[in-house]
Amino acid sequence: MYDAIVIGARCAGAATAMLLARSGRDVLLVDRARFGSDIPHGHFIHRHGPRRLSEWGLLDRVLASGCPRVTQFTSDMGDFPLTGTELEAGGIPMGVGPRRSALDAILVEAAIEAGAEYREAHPVRSLSFDGDRVTGIESEQARIVIGADGRNSGVAKQVGAPVLREQPAISVWYFSYWSGVPEPGLSVIVRDRTAVFAFPTNDDLFGVFIAWPLTELARVKRDIDAAMYEVIDATPGLGERIRAGRREERVCGATQLPNFVRRSHGPGWALVGDAGVHKDPFMALGVCDALRDAELLAQSFDDLPEYERRRDAATLEDFDANFGAAHLMAPPELLAFRQTLRGDQAATNRFYLQREGMVA
Ligand SMILES: Cc1cc2nc3c(=O)[nH]c(=O)nc-3n(C[C@H](O)[C@H](O)[C@H](O)COP(=O)(O)OP(=O)(O)OC[C@H]3O[C@@H](n4cnc5c(N)ncnc54)[C@H](O)[C@@H]3O)c2cc1C
Repeated sequence: MYDAIVIGARCAGAATAMLLARSGRDVLLVDRARFGSDIPHGHFIHRHGPRRLSEWGLLDRVLASGCPRVTQFTSDMGDFPLTGTELEAGGIPMGVGPRRSALDAILVEAAIEAGAEYREAHPVRSLSFDGDRVTGIESEQARIVIGADGRNSGVAKQVGAPVLREQPAISVWYFSYWSGVPEPGLSVIVRDRTAVFAFPTNDDLFGVFIAWPLTELARVKRDIDAAMYEVIDATPGLGERIRAGRREERVCGATQLPNFVRRSHGPGWALVGDAGVHKDPFMALGVCDALRDAELLAQSFDDLPEYERRRDAATLEDFDANFGAAHLMAPPELLAFRQTLRGDQAATNRFYLQREGMVA
């Protein structure tokens, strides 16, 4: 019998398996996908994410995958572009945006190095139960089965995980990757109830993610390319630089983006990552929070109520803030504060570093 079977081997599951294995647990990590595959999700990691990867000894591997350090952040809330520069603390950059094929592979490799057993192309169809206690998956038994199986978590469905907090889906995102856009930093541009979230990633590519209110879905879907370029062209400066580059990949979309917090555990089961908490991508918190919650779960593996207490303390405020921000309208007090930073590079840098939790 394993201590834990982890279903889903991406940022939440592979990190959880790695940390449990590092603490001496007997872990089986499974995914229906193959090792090193990509996933049509976002991947900019900021806030506590780069620091955590560094503490785990993995940030260098992420950077060595060809993923640039991001130490510049430009935001434009329809007012003016406010650029923070030299955004790093203790040598750790504000952000990195590794393709998921790179990041998830590094995490799976680290889990295997730590002693976890890994099975790819291994779909889990049903959990086994003894009464209401989960005892394993079809072929294997474990003390705890961990659902790290994403926002449509089959584990959550099978155990009937209660939803503790919920908000409706409000946005729709489409994205792709361009070459020939030598942008060094992260850009977040919000105007006319659209958002552009763009950053450099592996292979000298530049990821461009665009959001609209969900109410715009039918219009956007009629001609996705045209809708994307309409927003890109309305983005001064950056839009021209993206136009000068070349789109290298197909456009992917995400149109079902609920906002929920599920109970994190029950008899014989736990949830981590999007399976437990799913937020609109606006603040790009999914990956860094998945890494954090993996750590909290591994630390509180023998006390799952404590895991939930710590997860909720860390995430509920952001859950609400993210839902507010995902309405794609900057609040007047933020706009007023940004005006006070205009032309003051040191204050602007401090603002971003504080916002990212990199300095007190
Ligand atoms: C458009 C968009 C943009 C985003 N942008 C960002 C961003 O810039 N930064 C950020 O931090 N977050 C972003 N996010 C959110 C981020 O992608 C997710 O929070 C993150 O992928 C969650 O990781 P996870 O490991 O919990 O789940 P997932 O990445 O969804 O992985 C779940 C895994 O479980 C496996 N699985 C599922 N069911 C089974 C089964 N039955 N048996 C075996 N395996 C199974 C799947 O194959 C998959 O590999 C974005 C999301 C979207 C949709």
